[in-house]
Amino acid sequence: MANLEAPWLTSAGSLAVFAMLEGAGHQAWFVGGCVRNALMEEPVSDLDIATDALPEDVMKLAEGAGLKAVPTGIAHGTVTVVSAAQTFEITTFRRDVETDGRRAVVAFSEQMEDDARRRDFTVNALYAGKSGEVRDPVGGLADLEDRRFRFIGDPHHRICEDYLRILRFFRFFAWYGRDLDADGLAACSSLSEGVLSLSAERVTSEMLKLLAARDPARAVAAMEHAGILQRVLPGGSSRFLAPFLHLDPVAEIDPIARLAAIGGDVSGLRLSRADAKALDAYRHGLENTWSAGRLGYALGEDQALRVLALRAALFEHPLDPAHLEAARKGAASVLPVRAADLPDTLVGPEIGNALKILEDRWIDSDFGPSKAELLASL
Ligand code: ATP
Ligand code: MG
Repeated sequence: MANLEAPWLTSAGSLAVFAMLEGAGHQAWFVGGCVRNALMEEPVSDLDIATDALPEDVMKLAEGAGLKAVPTGIAHGTVTVVSAAQTFEITTFRRDVETDGRRAVVAFSEQMEDDARRRDFTVNALYAGKSGEVRDPVGGLADLEDRRFRFIGDPHHRICEDYLRILRFFRFFAWYGRDLDADGLAACSSLSEGVLSLSAERVTSEMLKLLAARDPARAVAAMEHAGILQRVLPGGSSRFLAPFLHLDPVAEIDPIARLAAIGGDVSGLRLSRADAKALDAYRHGLENTWSAGRLGYALGEDQALRVLALRAALFEHPLDPAHLEAARKGAASVLPVRAADLPDTLVGPEIGNALKILEDRWIDSDFGPSKAELLASL
């Protein structure tokens, strides 16, 4: 039987949470992404705990133990507990009772097996106790070995309960998968229309998580073949994504640049203002013929470099190192003239216009002219 080792398992915060639940005669198990990722030796982002204690009891026990407890999702059984500056999402065991295809409807349970069966993939239903002992009620360890995301139960049935599972299937594959599970893929493909019934928020958040994987190209290509990409991003294509990922010179991952590489209609998504603005910048950068220097000056280094990579991928030409350099130079350049430097014969909109003319001249002269030279050119 697998045994889990992880620093968070034995941290002071974890020990206090386990003591509080087990001391009152309850079960407590780490579950979900933290157990899965620790076993795969991947970074762990959040700590989820499953328990047979009811949410109101978790609240009382936490308060009794002097831990901060917030009923973040009390309706579906989740209490967020902060212990030694660590955050734990403690959720009561649940079982599926009925579903509407947009969200599973669940009831509380006292059995880990019920709780496991309502989860999506076998590897997401692994439980670890405080000593690292792993419980595997639905055969997740074997799939973990193969890095395979396999639906728990009949894929068709499980997808109809919650169509977001289609996108989660591709998201986990993008992050950790080796091969796509054939039965899961076939079910996703035949039920692809279901993603249209999901809220724009859920689809957007899931797609952006998928696109934040190190290399999501295979996952996006598989989504396209399965008819799902067209539902989420009509007119989009996986074709330019792999070349873009290959060319992208920026180390930091930007899911929005990947979205720009896929293209298509994003009106079915709900992007944050910042994300929508970034997407516009990438799309605009693809459509216009701005020089690399101008891109750098207007967009900053990272976005400008990504625009150059997007252009190279879409127009199938190599990425010119001289262009990268020019974009970096543009990003680091500051216009040497300000409104106050202009002759005071200029008034109102003339000031802005003159500045714009000088700025254009300066950019087109490779950021070379000095303040005096620019003013003399007016
Ligand atoms: P990560 O947090 O690393 O993205 P995760 O597996 O923890 O991955 P979460 O979305 O945080 O994913 O969900 C936690 C757990 O809850 C999952 O591992 C899974 O067991 C269960 N779960 C989440 N969403 C669903 C869903 N739509 N259907 C069934 N089970 C789900
Ligand atoms: Mg998680």
